[in-house]
Amino acid sequence: MRNADIFHPDFTPSPYWWEAYRPAAGDLAPVPREARVAIVGGGYAGLAAALEFSRHGVEAVVLEQGALGVGASTRNGGSVSGGVNVGKSFSGRATEVDAERTHRLLSDASDAFALIERLIAEEAIECFWQKRGRFVGAWTPAHYAYQEKRLGSLNDAAQSGALMVPRERQREEIASDYYYGGMVVERSASLHPALYYKGLLEACRRRDIAICAEASVLKITANGSGWRVATSRGTVIAGDVVIATNGYTGAVTPALRRRIVPIASHIIATEPLPPDVAGSLIPKRRSISDTKRVLCYYRLSPDGTRVVFGGRARFTPADPLLCARVLHGYMTDRFPQLKGVRVTHSWTGNTAFTLDALPHMGEEGGLHYCLGCNGSGIAMMTYLGTQTARKIARVANAPCVFDGPEFPGHPLYTGNPWFLPLVGGWYRMRDRLDRILA
Ligand SMILES: Cc1cc2nc3c(=O)[nH]c(=O)nc-3n(C[C@H](O)[C@H](O)[C@H](O)COP(=O)(O)OP(=O)(O)OC[C@H]3O[C@@H](n4cnc5c(N)ncnc54)[C@H](O)[C@@H]3O)c2cc1C
Repeated sequence: MRNADIFHPDFTPSPYWWEAYRPAAGDLAPVPREARVAIVGGGYAGLAAALEFSRHGVEAVVLEQGALGVGASTRNGGSVSGGVNVGKSFSGRATEVDAERTHRLLSDASDAFALIERLIAEEAIECFWQKRGRFVGAWTPAHYAYQEKRLGSLNDAAQSGALMVPRERQREEIASDYYYGGMVVERSASLHPALYYKGLLEACRRRDIAICAEASVLKITANGSGWRVATSRGTVIAGDVVIATNGYTGAVTPALRRRIVPIASHIIATEPLPPDVAGSLIPKRRSISDTKRVLCYYRLSPDGTRVVFGGRARFTPADPLLCARVLHGYMTDRFPQLKGVRVTHSWTGNTAFTLDALPHMGEEGGLHYCLGCNGSGIAMMTYLGTQTARKIARVANAPCVFDGPEFPGHPLYTGNPWFLPLVGGWYRMRDRLDRILA
């Protein structure tokens, strides 16, 4: 069916998650003339920062250029990692950092997981939070060996509950022979991304935090010891500014834009499957990802009826119909038994990769930022937003390991990722070669 009509009559080129919460501007909150802190970007990072400010009595305003939740925060796959992806570049390889730093990075990533779990419980956010673990399939035997090497540090630093599953036992995890075994990370979860976003938004509203939709930040200029933040709906004078624009970072902050490579990721959702088929695909209902350079990530929908399947069908934003065909092919490569299954939703969103494959918070030209989810930011961007607020409110006990002056750029990169289609083609070829030579 790869080239036949894979589309369900009810197909829509929008996120499956938006059936439960669709980004909306609502009644537009007026842009205040003054605020102690102005937060640019109303995704998980921006809302988590606003919530933390409110806990410490700091008045903050969130300025969002579109509807509330229009960025990656209602579009993602909903797999929450406890640190396994920290330091992974968009080639899927891990950055080389020394053992002591790796330990601290994993340990803070583990704190991010604890934070999101606590936040969901404290704010009673109904978002299908399920701690069922993740299976990361090894594309080659060498990848399996590499996973095995990382196991110890994941368990020591991030209490990941990681264990290896050899190929002979793979079918305990997934009804597929696509991989050479893989690693299970027990301390991972899944959620409904748009309902998590909605819950954060409601928590902000309960605290009367000003959340201004359709308020595009156009210019930020120094104003005495603070900032003048000009938006499409008025100007705010703020003491501090937090940039939380991640994969949508634009020309307003050119120095940050040069450090971020926005990479599109694409997802499809299938029509509801017969219960016996749905129940057999991923018997333990874990999230799945793999070690390929052009990786895929997938899971069952929270109600267990559909497959939600994501990957880099293209590295740039692309036609949802084209992406649906590519992803359907990737899905049936893994699950040939789904060949006749149709697609109901296909959508795309931007992630933000950094040149050292690490998320960052810090200050650039006096502006605070939290950026660079590297494809895995549900817990991490919630955490970095919170940590940035704690730093500005001067209540942080210790500096966060992701906070530092070293946020690398490249002299030839100005923020226009024109090279991504070439990189995508190169990685696809490398994936094929890795398997041929395995
Ligand atoms: C398809 C896809 C699948 C993913 N899957 C997973 C997953 O399974 N697990 C996981 O952990 N992570 C995943 N991610 C990553 C995760 O979604 C992000 O890391 C996270 O949502 C980032 O949150 P954020 O608040 O930093 O950014 P966003 O939610 O992207 O919000 C940034 C906001 O800034 C706004 N903005 C930009 N410029 C301006 C301006 N000038 N003025 C005002 N507002 C502005 C944008 O409109 C946007 O709403 C995925 C991402 C995508 C796209």
